Amino acid sequence: MKNNEARRCLLCKKPKCSLQGCPVHTPIPECMALYREDKLDEAGKLLFDNNPLSAITSRVCNWKQLCHGNCVLNVKHIPVRWYEIEQEISDAYLFSAKLKRESDVLAGKKIALVGAGPVGIAAAVWLYRAGADISMADANPRMGGVLRYGIPAFRLDKKYVNAFERMFDDAGIKFQGEMRVGRDIALDRVAARYDAVLLGAGAEKPASLNIPGEGKGLQALPFLRNPAAFDLGRKVIVIGGGNVAMDASRAAVRQGTETWIYYRKDYGNMPANPNEIAEAMRDGVHFRVFQAPVEVRTNSVVFCDCQNVTDPETGKVVTKILEGTEHEVDCETLLTAISETPDPTIFTGCEPLLDRWNIPQVTEDGQVIIKGIDNVFAAGDFLTGPKTVVEAVASARKAVDAIIARYGRKAE
Ligand SMILES: Cc1cc2nc3c(=O)[nH]c(=O)nc-3n(C[C@H](O)[C@H](O)[C@H](O)COP(=O)(O)OP(=O)(O)OC[C@H]3O[C@@H](n4cnc5c(N)ncnc54)[C@H](O)[C@@H]3O)c2cc1C
Repeated sequence: MKNNEARRCLLCKKPKCSLQGCPVHTPIPECMALYREDKLDEAGKLLFDNNPLSAITSRVCNWKQLCHGNCVLNVKHIPVRWYEIEQEISDAYLFSAKLKRESDVLAGKKIALVGAGPVGIAAAVWLYRAGADISMADANPRMGGVLRYGIPAFRLDKKYVNAFERMFDDAGIKFQGEMRVGRDIALDRVAARYDAVLLGAGAEKPASLNIPGEGKGLQALPFLRNPAAFDLGRKVIVIGGGNVAMDASRAAVRQGTETWIYYRKDYGNMPANPNEIAEAMRDGVHFRVFQAPVEVRTNSVVFCDCQNVTDPETGKVVTKILEGTEHEVDCETLLTAISETPDPTIFTGCEPLLDRWNIPQVTEDGQVIIKGIDNVFAAGDFLTGPKTVVEAVASARKAVDAIIARYGRKAE
């Protein structure tokens, strides 16, 4: 055992870190006990079975709010740094892990996974082990989704997603890159060829600022795919307060730009992981809060000052623009990172039931409601709107359970 931190864990019988703090209910005390006995491999398997992406989530989760924030030792202000131990255990396991068939509950069932981000990866592990014949397809050339094409390498080493590519290749899981369902093949054709289809297509369609001149800005997601391909000029403004805004600003600073984040609420209302906000500040990103953009011009943005007000009907904090406070701020590049919704073009030619944010509506057992098609399921950001990696894994687990319940061999 390298990490003495583990000795401080109280191995709680009702661990809040796991039960309340973690969307996938990581069995923290059990893993901690194994780790203390130097049973690293057993601890690794327990973690991987529960969350195949634990090596990644232990790095990108907002652990201050999740496991760490719910540790009982918070009362003494000395919570156990479980995420560090989780990284050590998960790394040791992931890079030598081999996928094995562990049951035949889905033997003979053909399942298509559309999207090879966290949902597709986690689902592939569980479905393969349950005996299914899996095919994966993704619009991108390689697996990983946001883990490969969104979160910058300075924050998440790509060796973690590469490990899954190798593991799936060894197991004979078929992966077809550069295959966009809805464009290269219709979803109804995929659904007809497979027993079940799981859509883990993320939320990639940028939301609109709905202000004049918006088209002069650059979307943060395409920028993050390959920051070096963009000449940003001297000064960059990033609009947004989520993880995408933090990553885009930190990537821009690394190109030697003076980078400012403008956000319409205060720091406490920023959806980004507080660690990422702190890292962006450390990197030299400047912040201005209570600023709402009202117009984008060539080489400048017009902002208004604004306030947070609580909507009496919904109880939500909303932005109130203060009239007469317009001011123009120069910049060579504007990056917008306000939010994303699922891209409904995946359903081209089909008739799904979607809400106004393009979120597919599902039946009680998680089946996407599409006229004439009854074997399509959904999970992750595609089903929930933009959330987090660990929530995508939790959502994938629910979808896999629904698929097993519907198509799995029943006990005799
Ligand atoms: C820049 C950025 C930073 C983030 N930082 C964090 C963080 O620090 N911590 C955290 O927990 N979460 C973070 N998130 C959120 C997290 O990455 C997502 O919640 C998570 O990746 C969702 O997983 P997913 O599998 O649902 O979707 P994605 O990761 O988006 O994967 C979806 C995949 O589907 C593919 N696809 C889409 N449409 C089609 C189609 N029609 N046909 C075939 N394939 C298709 C896409 O190419 C993509 O590979 C961040 C997100 C972004 C964008």
